[in-house]
Amino acid sequence: MSKKVCDFCTESESDDNPIIAGAEAYICSNCVVSAYKILFGDEDVSETPVEYNENLLFPKEIKSILDDYVIGQSQAKKTLSVAVYNHYKRIFKDIPDEDDTKIDKSNILLVGPTGSGKTLLAQTIARFLDVPIAITDATNLTEAGYVGEDVENILTKLLQSADGDVARAEQGIVFIDEVDKVARMGENRSITRDVSGEGVQQALLKIIEGSVVNIPPKGGRKHPNQDFIQIDTANILFICGGAFDGLSDIIKRRLGENMMGFGQDKRSKKEEENMLHLVESGDLVSFGLIPELIGRLHVHATLNEITVEDMVKILVEPKNSIVKQYQKLFAIDEVVLTFEEEALELIGEKAIDRKTGARGLRSIMEDILLDIMYELPELNGYEVIITADVIKNLAKPIYIKNKKTA
Ligand code: ADP
Repeated sequence: MSKKVCDFCTESESDDNPIIAGAEAYICSNCVVSAYKILFGDEDVSETPVEYNENLLFPKEIKSILDDYVIGQSQAKKTLSVAVYNHYKRIFKDIPDEDDTKIDKSNILLVGPTGSGKTLLAQTIARFLDVPIAITDATNLTEAGYVGEDVENILTKLLQSADGDVARAEQGIVFIDEVDKVARMGENRSITRDVSGEGVQQALLKIIEGSVVNIPPKGGRKHPNQDFIQIDTANILFICGGAFDGLSDIIKRRLGENMMGFGQDKRSKKEEENMLHLVESGDLVSFGLIPELIGRLHVHATLNEITVEDMVKILVEPKNSIVKQYQKLFAIDEVVLTFEEEALELIGEKAIDRKTGARGLRSIMEDILLDIMYELPELNGYEVIITADVIKNLAKPIYIKNKKTA
């Protein structure tokens, strides 16, 4: 076998200068070091070991992992990366206790439409930090009569996700979606809300602000003769999410006369979104969250609505994108699955019509591919091309006998 040669400096591989292979190029370790110096300065890289705690990723590392899995939403990713780094730094690093400065926990509020990636962001972070996560929906919390107990069940879920390891659960993440649905009714909002909304918020506040909570290990109601497990929530990172429909109107009203100057009756979606970036705590109080709860959700990040362009990217780009998953599934039967660009755009448009963000993509894809998957074992050795006509007119896809696998 011929020796590998660096495509940057043409040096051959040696014991002192090993070569790393990329998809279509080789690079030697000397060039990697030079490249590092160009990017990050002239310190000797080999002499400056980066202190690396497996669980403590730097903000840039967190952001770049999120980039692999979540399309767009770059402002939210950046805000989250910093917040998550700060949170875990507080826990994992020994912070000197010599003065009275205690670093408070900052929980996070994600404001963004349904299916825009809020849960996905939280899940991805938990996976890469290797911490347990419990995902729940605040609307479920309004259903039970004994609200407080229900809220505690989130912690039972977290403990289960930590395989019963209390210490691990106490460093985990709780994601609570649809917190906007437990807002108390504001004076200006016409939708009738569950009257217990405020009660749920109070109960949430209790666990979010950091306290030792008795939880029933198996969930459900507390029974007097059941053993409880104590969970300290002081280091649990709470991420709350919600669409907060109507919040931009509240912000607009606050900005009042300044904004009137624009003289626009109807704002574009982009302007509405930009408005959400200006959210302040007072706006959330006007929306109907209790000030004490907002006081515990210091970090605010806003997610944008998914556009057709984003939908197409979501279908193909993330590491485990929907298209890649189906391609893998097809490949097991030695069938090559391809999509025309226009077909992907039409799928994206269909998802937008459903008004559930990118969440609709998978079921749309499942519908489209059902008939093909039904016949898949017989298509062994073929390439299946999904054209725009397949999506628009329910036409048959193009089948090409694939030379490679024939
Ligand atoms: P929500 O904002 O309602 O929490 P989710 O994060 O649950 O939305 O998104 C639902 C699904 O849609 C995800 O599992 C993912 O497949 C897809 N999705 C949504 N937003 C994005 C995004 N920005 N990038 C990649 N996939 C996304």
